[in-house]
Amino acid sequence: MTSVTPQPAKHKKARALKPSSRRPAKELCSECGLCDTYYIHYVKEACAFLNQQIADLETKAHGRSRNLDHPDDWYFGVNQKMLTAKKIKPIEGAQWTGIVSTIAMEMLKQGKVEGVVCVQNTEEDRFQPMPIIARTPEEVLAARVNKPTLSPNLSVLEQVEQSGMKRLLVIGVGCQIQALRSVQNELGLEKLYVLGTPCVDNVNREGLQKFLETTSRSPETVVHYEFMQDFRIHFKHEDGSIEKVPFFGLKTNQLKDVFASSCMSCFDYVNSLADLVVGYMGAPFGWQWILVRNDIGQEMLDLVQDQLETQPVMSKGDRKQAVQQSIPAYDKGVTLPMWAAKMMGVVIEKIGPKGLEYARFSIDSHFTRNYLYLKRNHPQKLEAHVPEYAKRIVEQYKLPD
Ligand code: FAD
Ligand code: SF4
Repeated sequence: MTSVTPQPAKHKKARALKPSSRRPAKELCSECGLCDTYYIHYVKEACAFLNQQIADLETKAHGRSRNLDHPDDWYFGVNQKMLTAKKIKPIEGAQWTGIVSTIAMEMLKQGKVEGVVCVQNTEEDRFQPMPIIARTPEEVLAARVNKPTLSPNLSVLEQVEQSGMKRLLVIGVGCQIQALRSVQNELGLEKLYVLGTPCVDNVNREGLQKFLETTSRSPETVVHYEFMQDFRIHFKHEDGSIEKVPFFGLKTNQLKDVFASSCMSCFDYVNSLADLVVGYMGAPFGWQWILVRNDIGQEMLDLVQDQLETQPVMSKGDRKQAVQQSIPAYDKGVTLPMWAAKMMGVVIEKIGPKGLEYARFSIDSHFTRNYLYLKRNHPQKLEAHVPEYAKRIVEQYKLPD
């Protein structure tokens, strides 16, 4: 289990890249923020898109890597425990019930950390990410809700070392956390806590606009959206109304290029390297899904246990046929007429995969799609960039050439 080995600040530093400069990972860059700091010195080793090293970093962070003889490890990564939970008193305006924000606020209140890396939005644009190091619970609370865009969370890392901070919590998605794990010993910290969320299909700010405009009836009033377990996208609008659009009715042909190339090449949906992961897709509707990967993760969860209602994870249904059928449909950019999409959504919701099986459905669909994307667009990267566990997942399906 990692506790951070503090290093005197004698590591090599390089000059951060200008915002307009091309990133070393080129079109695969997820704008994780590392290259906005002098830690760009470590980019060749640290960047999730230049050097996939999930198994090694799992061993460093959790004491072991995934057991490839166990299919549940392929899907969910190293974990001590999985459960579903919701806040007894949800946080108003959070993405789900606000478990992430609550843990981060408790970490500060109880003096476990001096700062929390999280992402607020700019004053002008609710979806434009603005990473910060929060030092008060109020600043953490102001970072609640997803900014569904690529966010340079690691761009604040220089400030950590400069501030002399020794105990830090970082909230982030998989690509950010992979780069963080590679440089964590260079930050001058005594203790690092990592609280992750799953992440998939992210977009840059222009891509988000196109997605909202092609999919929602009122793009300018959307405050929050999620791809839900009922196979619909739920858009929440400023007036509190919820608009539901079936996945199968998405204008796939127009949306094919919307997702960032980094996200089309990502195989770390479940944030393998965080100590604790809080998502929703392995849980029944309305609940959040929690994976405790190691003792540090358990320590964070213990802080909020009395504020949560919990229940065990469940799994129902069989995803395999639905995944196999979705592969050529996505590949050919098929869009169903809305009435058919709605009907298909209703049928699949009734008989389709639930709980962990839904999470497997989502992982399978995205990994097969991403494998094809990489094979066609970056074939030279296929062998080293796709982790062994992801190859095993993809091998379960028949893919087009
Ligand atoms: P809140 O208390 O609202 O806190 C949200 C936290 O997320 C904040 O602390 C903020 O700092 C951080 N954050 C916001 N935007 C970003 C960003 N762009 N990058 C990094 N950190 C950010 N879960 C699934 O189970 N399946 C999915 O497919 C899935 N896709 C996601 C895609 C994206 C782009 C993101 C950011 C999250 C995704 N999640 C997914 C996680 C899920 O949507 C919730 O964020 C999670 O369950 C926590 O909910 P909460 O109410 O506890 O969070
Ligand atoms: Fe740099 Fe991060 Fe982009 Fe890789 S993904 S090139 S580390 S900013």
